Amino acid sequence: MNEITILGAYGTKGVNVGTSAFYIDERNVIDAGNLLVPLGKKSAEIESVWLSHSHLDHIIDIAYILDSYFAARKKPLKILGLKETLLSIKEDFLNNRIWPDFSAIKLLHSDEMSVVYEEIEPNKRYKIGESTYLQAYKTDHTVASCGYIVTKNDRSVIISLDTYSLDSTIENIDSREDIQTLVVECSFPSRMQQLAYDSKHLTPKLLFEKLKVMKKSNIDIYINHIKPLFLEEMRKEIALYQGEFRVKILKDGEKINF
Ligand SMILES: [Zn+2]
Ligand SMILES: [Zn+2]
Repeated sequence: MNEITILGAYGTKGVNVGTSAFYIDERNVIDAGNLLVPLGKKSAEIESVWLSHSHLDHIIDIAYILDSYFAARKKPLKILGLKETLLSIKEDFLNNRIWPDFSAIKLLHSDEMSVVYEEIEPNKRYKIGESTYLQAYKTDHTVASCGYIVTKNDRSVIISLDTYSLDSTIENIDSREDIQTLVVECSFPSRMQQLAYDSKHLTPKLLFEKLKVMKKSNIDIYINHIKPLFLEEMRKEIALYQGEFRVKILKDGEKINF
């Protein structure tokens, strides 16, 4: 079955809501906004965190899964991302001031370090399982950022992560027959267009305007990264586009079949 689980569906951490993280399989996650609570002990088995960008809502639980399950880890945690993203994690986050530099700390029962870094190449397909692949592609945010295409058994879901433009996302959807499912961010209500522009996020109005240029129809569209404060307002707004597009708003813990 081609399935991913949404560990955190929202654009920030709130009371009873988790932020960006996607469970691909028992060893791989995309982003680390919400790992510790939904995965519990299974966090220690995560081997690779594939990052979209360096913002806190996408990286924060790297700190806590390393710390809480340090003694249980048998393998290094591989942090993968664009060159700029990894630089930011090393210099601004796991830097011995905000949190320990785990790349200089050995695992308890091994000579390997607790964290290793690996730069990824956009548009390169990485094999991560029997018939599972990940491919990053560049997106448009306030810092260097990428979305991901997850392929299982020749079918794919494309996850935009944080972005203002959808050009590269739509290009991939239209050029690849295997993509029938889109997970796309939408952060603020349409009345906050200026804030969306300044922070390089989408509103429902911007999102559906941009999706109109997509040639492929019949795509399943899942929305994530809504700021919880605006959830009810945005639910009503997004409902207006229902019919023209097949849209669903994601919740924490939900699974997507593709
Ligand atoms: Zn974000
Ligand atoms: Zn961001």
